[in-house]
Amino acid sequence: MTANLLEFDLEGLAVFCEGLGEKRFRATQLFRWIHQRGASDFDQMSDLAKSLREKLKSSAHIRALPVLTQHISADGTIKWLFDVGGGNAVESVFIPEDDRGTLCVSSQAGCAVGCRFCSTGHQGFSRNLSTAEILAQLWFAEHFLRQHLGSQERVISNVVMMGMGEPLQNYTALIPALRTMLDDHGYGLSRRRVTVSTSGVVPMIDRLSMDCPVALAVSLHAPTDALRDPLVPLNRKYPIDELLQACGRYLEHAPRDFITFEYCMLDGVNDQPEHARQLIELVQRHGRQGLRCKFNLIPFNPFPASGLQRSSQARVQAFAKMLLDAGIVTTVRKTRGDDIDAACGQLAGDVKDRTRVQERIAQQRASGIIPIAPVSH
Ligand code: SAH
Ligand code: SF4
Repeated sequence: MTANLLEFDLEGLAVFCEGLGEKRFRATQLFRWIHQRGASDFDQMSDLAKSLREKLKSSAHIRALPVLTQHISADGTIKWLFDVGGGNAVESVFIPEDDRGTLCVSSQAGCAVGCRFCSTGHQGFSRNLSTAEILAQLWFAEHFLRQHLGSQERVISNVVMMGMGEPLQNYTALIPALRTMLDDHGYGLSRRRVTVSTSGVVPMIDRLSMDCPVALAVSLHAPTDALRDPLVPLNRKYPIDELLQACGRYLEHAPRDFITFEYCMLDGVNDQPEHARQLIELVQRHGRQGLRCKFNLIPFNPFPASGLQRSSQARVQAFAKMLLDAGIVTTVRKTRGDDIDAACGQLAGDVKDRTRVQERIAQQRASGIIPIAPVSH
């Protein structure tokens, strides 16, 4: 079996090249061809010696994930469903904005945390993605979009690990993927523009601060353990105070001087004035120990089987105002791509529906095309 070179960060690729009897600097050239130029064919790599290209052909490949579907939203958001084999599929979402292009990347097929309000969580856990499968989402999206837009310039400026899965429960595969995103010979993204979102795996927050400090978003969703336990089951293992202390420690290494707290607004569950007051008290208490934060309120995106409702706009605004009046920077997340089920928490990847995924793979292979399906209204 040959190695997929998307599996390696630059250091890993250097080791691989040394194993082929090549100098380490060859790895830099190869890395640039792969990630900066989007090359997948060794014969394209004109500045590599023919002998090296031959060695690479017999020992390695560069392969993205098969695209099962591509949906384009009315607002320009694009969602891809990628086949990761064994009846599993994962989703990535590209969100264009005036001053940036953000790719939302998946880290696992399914998720073991099982948050009540999350469609991925409802499916259960299938498996961790490999580094190659995480990076393949960025590699494909960046080079597809460049080609599509006729651009030589970088299209994706920000990556958020907010797709399917809990990134800090797939730590080993995550780190080389993050390093490749940041590497000047790879995607050259700023640490401030790569965000890991976590439901609160405390020991891994500490490790991330040492291994690869990028921007951190923490899915808080509740001001007390009594309320958070049933919403984010991981809270029973790592309760709020421990989590917020870890956030404080993270800030000593973080590229930004604040942590973003995500708070999914669930009608009648966590959106009452009393919850806002408890949240303010919590933030002020930890603020005295040096924790600086911002809040991002996410109106709940409903999906069948959640049994939950989205808070009214008035309720979200009132909640935001209470936090703002207490001096807490608070934004309300704009919902993007909800017409194609690409909004936060709607990514399901059809993991459950294995037959449908298999059928789609078969159809796609038979037709030999990647279906492009703009939504109809
Ligand atoms: N597992 C990580 C990252 C993926 S989820 C985490 O939980 O942080 C990305 C964000 O979407 C999280 O803040 C999550 O709480 C939020 N989310 C999940 N389901 C949602 C839903 N149905 N509506 C709105 N936001 C949701
Ligand atoms: Fe997993 Fe995040 Fe969904 Fe919770 S919100 S189930 S941690 S993907």
